[in-house]
Amino acid sequence: MENARFDKVEVRRGDLRWPLPGDFAKRLEGKTVTGLGRRAKYLLADLSSGDVLIMHLGMSGSFHVFREAGAKALGRYYHERANYAAHDHVVFHMSSGAIVTFNDPRRFGSMKIVPRGKLDAEPLLNRLGPEPLGNEFDAAMLARACKGKKTSLKAALLDQQIVAGLGNIYVCEALHRARLSPKRRASTIADRGGTANERAERLVEGIKAVLNEAITDGGASLRDHRLTDGELGMFQHRFRVYDREGETCRTPGCRGTIKRIVQNGRSTFYCPVCQK
Ligand SMILES: [Zn+2]
Repeated sequence: MENARFDKVEVRRGDLRWPLPGDFAKRLEGKTVTGLGRRAKYLLADLSSGDVLIMHLGMSGSFHVFREAGAKALGRYYHERANYAAHDHVVFHMSSGAIVTFNDPRRFGSMKIVPRGKLDAEPLLNRLGPEPLGNEFDAAMLARACKGKKTSLKAALLDQQIVAGLGNIYVCEALHRARLSPKRRASTIADRGGTANERAERLVEGIKAVLNEAITDGGASLRDHRLTDGELGMFQHRFRVYDREGETCRTPGCRGTIKRIVQNGRSTFYCPVCQK
């Protein structure tokens, strides 16, 4: 899409997480994508018109890139999946010849066009915490953000204002690596003055490690990702706790059994023996 123009934009179904505006296609057609980026879980396309197209995959959304009609371009991040054309909601026909299709069985995904000048005030983006792999995210910052917080550590890490872009699976995995209980009070990674303790250090290490590993192995492990009936497949052989209820803990030397609990309506998997 980069440096290509939207020749034609088809909105087959505009009722995504929120309805696409009536002029959605018109604001894109004829405009060139001058750059593609990302903030938290949002994909951002800068346009020659001065607008920014914001896209979010939601729970089950994906982009399929076709180089020419009927021919699949098997890239590193190509995943075999059930492909119901009924769920192809938005189709971008690019001047590069690529056809980029947004497919989303559950329609929790979303798109929005905002002027670049208003991006700083954009409610979807303006309260997001730091990027977990960025330089500004460290134990001191995480501890400051969790200071005095009575919520669980799990809930704090899912809070996009504390750290951006972490989802349920990676929060579970990071807490296991850090050997911290998801039920622990968030404030316990800081002392009363908000200074980071050793738990905060371990947690930041765990978060960065799990994300870096997932990115490095992403192509390979995600190849096993399957989609059936709109349900997201899980690359479970990579997980140490997620979706492993009743199985043995993978911490060396630990004989614990992975437990599942529900916190804030989401499943949490953890080892009650080594995560304290
Ligand atoms: Zn364990």
